[in-house]
Amino acid sequence: MSLRDRMKKQKKQLADRHRESYDRKDEKGISFGSIFVPGHGKPNWFCKNGTHEIDVIPWLCGPDMPLGKNEMPVPEGTLEYVFDCWVHRNVGAGNDLFLCPQRNYKKPCPICEYIKNTDLTTDEYKEVAPKRRCVYLVWVHSDPKMEEKGLLVWEVAHFFFEKNVSEISRRSDDRGGIIPWTDLDEGRSVVFTREGDKGNVSFYGHRFEDRRVQPVPDEIVEQTFALDSIIKCHPTYEEIEEAFTGRAGRTERSEKTEGSSPAPVDDEMACPVNGKFGEDFNQYNECDDCELFDDCQYEFDQLSPAKEPEPEPEPEPEPTQRPTRRTAAPDRSARPARTARPARPARPARPARTEKRPLPRRRQR
Ligand SMILES: [Zn+2]
Repeated sequence: MSLRDRMKKQKKQLADRHRESYDRKDEKGISFGSIFVPGHGKPNWFCKNGTHEIDVIPWLCGPDMPLGKNEMPVPEGTLEYVFDCWVHRNVGAGNDLFLCPQRNYKKPCPICEYIKNTDLTTDEYKEVAPKRRCVYLVWVHSDPKMEEKGLLVWEVAHFFFEKNVSEISRRSDDRGGIIPWTDLDEGRSVVFTREGDKGNVSFYGHRFEDRRVQPVPDEIVEQTFALDSIIKCHPTYEEIEEAFTGRAGRTERSEKTEGSSPAPVDDEMACPVNGKFGEDFNQYNECDDCELFDDCQYEFDQLSPAKEPEPEPEPEPEPTQRPTRRTAAPDRSARPARTARPARPARPARPARTEKRPLPRRRQR
């Protein structure tokens, strides 16, 4: 069979590849991996640049929710509106994503163990630390085509949406309480704007508006389902470790043979005023109003020498094989292992600064 004939035979496969490529054309900034169960069959919403109006619709959860308030399990059948979780992103050669067993379920996580036991630079820490993600069921009104589709699954960084909306949902002190913005009968639509591109994405202008349809119609309510049923909630320790360890080989190779290809960095965690995220915490005048204030402080604290007595390390399972370091490292056997990371401190614990530096560059919006 000639080469042409062989190629002809694969015409359909090629067409499928083109279609797949087209389907994923807008996914830049999204890791190729996914926290979702493959082939779960529920439609996703990819939030593009522009102003959007959505209703977040609540659903009855299944048995696999991350631990809730006070790290207590969330009983199956609880009404939820968000699957709020911590995710290790860009893991391994496949840029895979894994829900962190430690942060979500208090179970051993090989990547968190690696973080705890390794002296990492800021960039190394940023690359491997889990990021907070939220998954919702949304009814999108700002695009008639999307509105017609009914409920869509939307995954977004916590500080791009949930953080903003939880802030505006708080009533003023004299009225008190929280606006039940996802309630089926008295909830609100959320309007917000997404702008920017890889490395410089921003979500802003979050506000409530009266819903176009109130109460939420039964046909929409009937489309709800437990979001934990379509998320890979419990990747195994071995699965994560294998992917993470594979990452070491990939990075070493790419550094040697593809010197110009830097490892992927989480663009959403970049300092909006061009400082160093996690290092320059509270150094600039704009820090006070920064949407990444808490996240930056958290990373700053992780990178700072211990300021308080550290808690006892948690009991750990017998290590099997620790993930290897991304680049060749000196023998660490003589060093004492770090103890468990302290809990995230309250916001007032800021580093003492005499004066703030001028901005390196204005935020572009
Ligand atoms: Zn982890």
